[in-house]
Amino acid sequence: MSTLDDRFPDSNRNRFFSSGEPGERPKGRFYAAFEVAEPIENEERGEPVYLECAFADDVDQLVDTQMEPGRFWNKVSLSVLALDDESGIYANIGNSEPGDIVWFEVVVSPATVNEDNGMQYGQLLDAGERVHIHFRKFRGSTSQGSPIPPHYWLKGNPDRELNPNVLGGYSSMKSAGVAVFDVGQGASQALMYEDSGHFFPMLYVDVGGGVLQNLSTFPKNFKGFCPHDVPIILSHWDWDHWSSVCRFPDLLKSDWIAPLPPPKPIQQSLSWILRGLGRLSLWVRGMPPTYRTKSMLLELCTGKTTNDSGIAVTLFGGARGTKRCLLPGDAGYRYIPSVVANERFNALSITHHGGRLHSKQIPIPKRGARAMCSVGSGNSYKHPFWETIDAHHDGGWPTPISTGHYGSRPSHVFQPWNGPLRVVSDACPFAHPCSVGIPSI
Ligand SMILES: [Zn+2]
Ligand SMILES: [Zn+2]
Repeated sequence: MSTLDDRFPDSNRNRFFSSGEPGERPKGRFYAAFEVAEPIENEERGEPVYLECAFADDVDQLVDTQMEPGRFWNKVSLSVLALDDESGIYANIGNSEPGDIVWFEVVVSPATVNEDNGMQYGQLLDAGERVHIHFRKFRGSTSQGSPIPPHYWLKGNPDRELNPNVLGGYSSMKSAGVAVFDVGQGASQALMYEDSGHFFPMLYVDVGGGVLQNLSTFPKNFKGFCPHDVPIILSHWDWDHWSSVCRFPDLLKSDWIAPLPPPKPIQQSLSWILRGLGRLSLWVRGMPPTYRTKSMLLELCTGKTTNDSGIAVTLFGGARGTKRCLLPGDAGYRYIPSVVANERFNALSITHHGGRLHSKQIPIPKRGARAMCSVGSGNSYKHPFWETIDAHHDGGWPTPISTGHYGSRPSHVFQPWNGPLRVVSDACPFAHPCSVGIPSI
């Protein structure tokens, strides 16, 4: 049998996903994709705006040779550009709507004494470099604006996707609780099982962590994920929900279940890596919008943006399987059907790292319910917002316990189905090179 490394050596993975030295960040012309966000209040301006970019000469040349998509996404040079100020973008996107992907052509040059307006990152785990970004032209929104032809975008086929066997074996195992891991500014959670009094992941929901300007929020002593063969449900394709795959590429050995990746270079590039390995099941529109097993309910969220159209996960446990923990990813609560249907929950990991809420709807807590928050200590967004915590208080939730805020890091939060919420530190009881086992409590 061929091993993962035979089929997919490191050299076949785009350099953007490597954790080594970033090397030189290419300068010149880029095609830049930007997802139009929900309108935001004034006080949030001042945050950088992120563009997923492909080096234009690479795209033009490779498209010309009609290279097949997997190889194309492996070869094309990728960068993230972070613009200090968003006004230049919103003045130029015509009547595009939230969730639309718009394309620009930009020129990146080294920063000079008087001219710099953003950062360039040559890898997701790159600390970045100050540059000058010049807008050359607005190309249009997705289909008209994309310089990359349609067959390079992974789309998924409703008749052939989502293999239920991926989750089958795990849905009948008995679980012990839900862990929210300290991965800095990002998210990674797991349904945990018990073995000899210790707890281990049996299913991951996201394997993200701090990236780019929040790179340093990732705990330095985080040794890895284990075991490597349990399924991963990806809530949505934002970098901070899967970036640990760059740190720990063994995560590529897992089966992934994910919503459709948006037509943006970096998110598509990872989706083609997983597809090339035969590890990606996509859940796309046209398939049943919910998936229920004994231990979980997966729901396709009903919004338009990447955050609001992903997978919301409810995990079930306890003696009669009636305890429920909601993991909404970054979705607005009003786009989660079971929340809209007034379902009640015993536990919740607050949506979007406690960032700005775009709706008044808050999930309904059961008596004694507990709240958690996956957030990086000292993150640049200032998550969690106090207004968001207060809105949860008003909705009947206690103050959430955040990851990475107590004692030595990583400091995870663990909600056993039977028992109080715990803050637990990194100490794999079996001395694995991992940071996600929880010793007996
Ligand atoms: Zn996020
Ligand atoms: Zn997100």
